[in-house]
Amino acid sequence: MGLHCDTVSQIHFEDVEVSGDRLVGAVGQGLPIALAALDSGRLGIAAAATGLAQGALDLAVSYAKDRVQFGRPIADNQGLAFLLADMEAAVMSARATYLHAARLKDAGRPVGRAASVAKLIATDAAMRVTTDAVQVLGGAGYTTDFPAERYMREAKVTQIFEGTNQIQRLVISRDLLKETS
Ligand SMILES: Cc1cc2nc3c(=O)[nH]c(=O)nc-3n(C[C@H](O)[C@H](O)[C@H](O)COP(=O)(O)OP(=O)(O)OC[C@H]3O[C@@H](n4cnc5c(N)ncnc54)[C@H](O)[C@@H]3O)c2cc1C
Repeated sequence: MGLHCDTVSQIHFEDVEVSGDRLVGAVGQGLPIALAALDSGRLGIAAAATGLAQGALDLAVSYAKDRVQFGRPIADNQGLAFLLADMEAAVMSARATYLHAARLKDAGRPVGRAASVAKLIATDAAMRVTTDAVQVLGGAGYTTDFPAERYMREAKVTQIFEGTNQIQRLVISRDLLKETS
């Protein structure tokens, strides 16, 4: 669907022997180490999704100001201007949320839940904002003349990889309930 620069394939390991000096961390600690790597990955995905949403918003704003229909720029219609306002609110929320998580990580504090929240908020924002950008461009948004349709396709996978957004909810709720039980 998108992400054409990323070749997707599967790898299988069978009877692989790894010498002791090649171990990452201590024996038996593989899963926690792998899960910690996901926290950083989720922050990266949140940042990328925020950029994607910002790109789509910038395109939508510029197009809405330029495109004249029925004698005036389409941005002069409140129905469309309010859509742009909602898109801006979603982008700002995404940026604030992932920067909060990034600051926790920089400070060496636990970041798992915040990284999952950032991934969830930013990627859902990216999906919504890029879809709305296609709408703002109307028929032109559906064509490959503008990057809006590509932004929309690229946004979809951010809700899926590095743990689907259903799994983010699982991570967040488990951590939340552990803390308050
Ligand atoms: C372009 C691309 C690049 C990728 N790159 C990588 C990579 O670099 N490294 C890597 O390891 N993986 C990578 N993946 C794989 C990706 O991480 C998985 O596709 C993703 O984690 C979902 O797993 P799955 O496809 O097996 O879906 P499934 O686990 O089969 O899930 C299918 C659906 O069921 C839902 N679901 C499953 N379990 C639950 C549950 N307990 N509660 C609620 N809903 C649930 C899921 O949210 C999803 O909607 C990549 C995938 C793509 C498309």
